[in-house]
Amino acid sequence: MTGLLPTYSRQPVSFTRGQGVWLWDEQGKQYFDALSGIAVCGLGHAHPEIAAAIADQAATLIHTSNLYGVPLQRELAEVLCSLSAMSGCFFCNSGAEANEAALKLARLHAHRKGIEQPKILVTEQSFHGRTLATLAATGNTKVQKGFEPLFPGFIRIPFGDPAAVKQALTQNTDIVAFLVEPIQGESGVREPDCGLAAYLNSIRSMCNDHDCLMMLDEIQTGNGRTGRYFAFQHSSILPDVVTTAKGLGNGFPIGAVLTRGRAADLFQPGAHGSTFGGTPLACRVALTTVRLLCAGAIENARIQGDRIRQELSARLKPLNVSISGLGMMIGVVLPHDATPLIATGREAGILFSVSSGNRIRLLPPLNLTPLETDLLIAKIGQLVECFLTQEHSL
Ligand SMILES: *Cc1c(COP(=O)(O)O)cnc(C)c1O
Repeated sequence: MTGLLPTYSRQPVSFTRGQGVWLWDEQGKQYFDALSGIAVCGLGHAHPEIAAAIADQAATLIHTSNLYGVPLQRELAEVLCSLSAMSGCFFCNSGAEANEAALKLARLHAHRKGIEQPKILVTEQSFHGRTLATLAATGNTKVQKGFEPLFPGFIRIPFGDPAAVKQALTQNTDIVAFLVEPIQGESGVREPDCGLAAYLNSIRSMCNDHDCLMMLDEIQTGNGRTGRYFAFQHSSILPDVVTTAKGLGNGFPIGAVLTRGRAADLFQPGAHGSTFGGTPLACRVALTTVRLLCAGAIENARIQGDRIRQELSARLKPLNVSISGLGMMIGVVLPHDATPLIATGREAGILFSVSSGNRIRLLPPLNLTPLETDLLIAKIGQLVECFLTQEHSL
């Protein structure tokens, strides 16, 4: 057999065309895409301004390498820094690469402090990527299985638990960084039990006390997904390092690492690099994406996201279903396994994912219209009701 390596067990459907929240498969059947290519296409499919930016930049200049100045890269760095109040920016091509850069910053921070065997705090159920270092940081043994020995130095604590952070930092003076998602994505939209702002506030002050880098993985939560540009902006703190990717290019690959404070001057010439990172084309697409996100899509994500959660919660509460998330990052938590719903939903023309067995994950485009929002609530409400009441009667 020749062809694709079987790294994915794919669903039996292939799409050939998209428009906004809609996808069409090879047979011409239409689907409501409530997954947005896993939190990537925040402005929906085939956005005309994104398509025009790609075409225009492709006909102007695609790539020159980082041996030379890239004005669009400087422009995008300025925009992201001013949106986030961070001070420095490095561009790469994916989430895992952004986290690799963050982990390299943690190592540099350690060596500056004279720590030879540095440790990095990470959390249970986290997801940070598939490279050798980021899979070791990931809190999921399925991702790690077969790739041992794992990259060393990670200390794992429960997610959302400030007391666990404090205990770890007090017990181990070699901890140089804490890498954490503000809201965990891949494991099914999990928020800190103590509340997002309270969690971030306490991490910030403990990281200050222990000269530890606060590194937020906003690869999924960033770029407006939670109803603010970055999820940390639901609090008043600033992290030392933020990584992002997914929604930054609306489907065009680009990742970024933002730094400030004690992380701002760690990378010096020669310390890190990327052939493709921050090409004129990638930066032009990201500049267009960020402009459109800030021109209403993020605010819309906040408003429609609140409505989706409120209405699904009211409708499904009697069936012991709870709703998690923020903005357009929404978890629908069933009392038991929900994996059969992926196929039922697909057959009914709606796409979403299921994590941790019982957590439906909805990541719709941020610019859903009120009518599309109504449709999403109706479709998910009905699917879950049918699924749970049918089983009751069996
Ligand atoms: C998707 C994701 C990554 C990995 O991004 P890739 O672009 O697939 O390498 C890392 N962290 C989080 C939180 C993610 O959601």
